[in-house]
Amino acid sequence: MTDSEHQPPSPDRYRQGGDRTSPFSSTTVDRMGDSGNVWNLHGGQIVLPRVFGFCRGVKRALVVVEEAVAGGGKSGGRFFLLGQIIHNPWVNEHFRQAGVRMLSGEQLAELEKHIGTDDCAIIPAFGLPLPVERRLRAIGCRIVDTTCTDVRRLWAWAEKACRRGFAVLIFGRAGHDETVVTRSRLEDLGGKYLIVGDLEQAGHFCRIVEGTSPDEKFAQFLPQATNAESIEPFLRLAQVSQTTMLHGETIKLRGMLEESFTRRFGASGLSDRLLLYPTVCRATQDRQTAAVELCRTGCDVVIVVGGFGSSNTRHLYELAGGFCPTYFIEDSAAIRSRDELLTMDFATGASAVVRHWLPARRPVRIGVLAGASSPEIVVGAVLDRLAEFLACGRE
Ligand code: SF4
Repeated sequence: MTDSEHQPPSPDRYRQGGDRTSPFSSTTVDRMGDSGNVWNLHGGQIVLPRVFGFCRGVKRALVVVEEAVAGGGKSGGRFFLLGQIIHNPWVNEHFRQAGVRMLSGEQLAELEKHIGTDDCAIIPAFGLPLPVERRLRAIGCRIVDTTCTDVRRLWAWAEKACRRGFAVLIFGRAGHDETVVTRSRLEDLGGKYLIVGDLEQAGHFCRIVEGTSPDEKFAQFLPQATNAESIEPFLRLAQVSQTTMLHGETIKLRGMLEESFTRRFGASGLSDRLLLYPTVCRATQDRQTAAVELCRTGCDVVIVVGGFGSSNTRHLYELAGGFCPTYFIEDSAAIRSRDELLTMDFATGASAVVRHWLPARRPVRIGVLAGASSPEIVVGAVLDRLAEFLACGRE
């Protein structure tokens, strides 16, 4: 059986541990790893970056959940995932099939209706908004917490700065689970936050700090992005980034802030007024660096594999798009034929069909990227599917 035929295993197979070390691994990816992440075929070459796929934090989260589920619950106890364990539909479906129930955002609002004292609640890798976590702990059920240590470190820095009287600028997506949790922890401390999603919004903020835009322009930030009404609290500022943001953009943002604060207040005493924390995690940085390295070697087309809701995978897509035609897909089924591929139009949030995605030239070189939440089993199935178009098997 190739990886493309693989479906999430049945609950029984899952509980028995399966016949491989991990239900997320892929023989195709293993074999490519043995060949230097290159697959040479008659019609061209498929290449992987030196680092891709599951990060340490995701691996740990999935092992913890697997072990908890395999160990079973108290008599009659059920397993609940409080939101998606990670932003990948295949992985979430895998745990659903293993008997884990997933609570939606609306259900989290009525947590006590769904979870009882005999149940086991699983906190996702991005953590839980603090009020929800408190209510969960009050239920008295068993809790399996898979929050990544890099996310916890971000919280610790942001909270410490908040206690010292700094308002916090979060570089991230306002609706992303991790940033929602970071925001909740600052609100709990009575602190002020502002979320900027890109360098354009950051520039708007910097112009108000410098005074080249009037203070009233602060009102242009959307209500869901801030709990402040003016720039005032942000003149003593701590900056953190969602762990999965583009590292290069984060560095630019920090430079912009330093420049604006220096223009307004002068260089002396800057560190008493501006704290800059390097919170983009190492796994995110490594995958971004490796993706750029691969693209620089020259690819005719790049396929990015991962959940459409995955922030770090989307940034790989943005990076690769600066080099060659790039398509973001969730799994091998999205590659309908050599002429048709199913992707997402991020501008509209709707599915989009792309035609003629595969260049006609031969030999063709196809790069494949995968984010920190993309399981090898899904990447392997995509590799198998791509290999079909490059004709025959390995050389
Ligand atoms: S991407 Fe980074 S922060 Fe997120 S789970 Fe992986 S290591 Fe942790």
